[in-house]
Amino acid sequence: MYTLGIDIGSTTSKCVILKDGAKEVAKSLIVAGTGTDGPNRALNEVLKKANLKLEDVSYIVSTGYGRKGYRLANTEISELSCHAKGVMHLFPKVRTIIDIGGQDAKVLSINERGRLAEFVMNDKCAAGTGRFLDVMANVLKLDISDLEKEARKATNPVQISSTCTVFAESEVISQLSNGSSRENVVAGICKSVANRVATLAKRLDIKDEVFMSGGVAKNEGVRNAMEEVLNTKIVYSKDSQLMGALGAALFAYEKSIKEE
Ligand code: ADP
Repeated sequence: MYTLGIDIGSTTSKCVILKDGAKEVAKSLIVAGTGTDGPNRALNEVLKKANLKLEDVSYIVSTGYGRKGYRLANTEISELSCHAKGVMHLFPKVRTIIDIGGQDAKVLSINERGRLAEFVMNDKCAAGTGRFLDVMANVLKLDISDLEKEARKATNPVQISSTCTVFAESEVISQLSNGSSRENVVAGICKSVANRVATLAKRLDIKDEVFMSGGVAKNEGVRNAMEEVLNTKIVYSKDSQLMGALGAALFAYEKSIKEE
């Protein structure tokens, strides 16, 4: 039996297909989120990779910011539950999840039974989200995926003191014109994201192991800065951005079994 999870995010659409609720058959990621053709493109791509037709899929769960009203989904489930489900499936020892997406950041506490116990989120301010990195990458004329390479070269990361994205953008421009190197500015940007989210995380009792999910987790500069500021090791997977879609596909399997 094939089940599919689709995570319709603010910037990116992700899909995972599972066989019998365990084996990952295919995954897709399209950088186009809710309100675009991204969800359908991600769906078509994952079906193509799996060599399946839509009719072959028994159950679809949608999650993410644009999960509501996705007409191909049998049901929708919140991204908090789906991230927790996906992460716990692969990393059962994780007790804290830091999920930084395109427009919000969430910190989740997982209890001993692997269930979501508590969470805090920032969805009011772009600082400490992927949006902050997207804006800064644009200012620096860099691709989002190049930020970590730049940060790695830094010798003396600059301090970004503005807590507002718009002011931080001006601060970055003035740092550059005052002679700070691009790599030191990028490292400062990564640190700024980590500091913002760490402040949020500290509102919960952070327990080992700490996992980073969401697109921003791909950035090693942010992960390293997070380890430093939280004084804990960060667990990460190259598929961190797909945890929501994986969780949705796992829920889809459970639901299809119940309805059989
Ligand atoms: P959403 O579900 O809201 O679309 P995602 O969890 O998919 O969010 O993450 C999207 C964000 O991930 C983008 O805003 C972007 O800043 C960030 N991102 C994607 N790829 C990278 C990368 N290679 N390095 C750093 N950040 C990245």
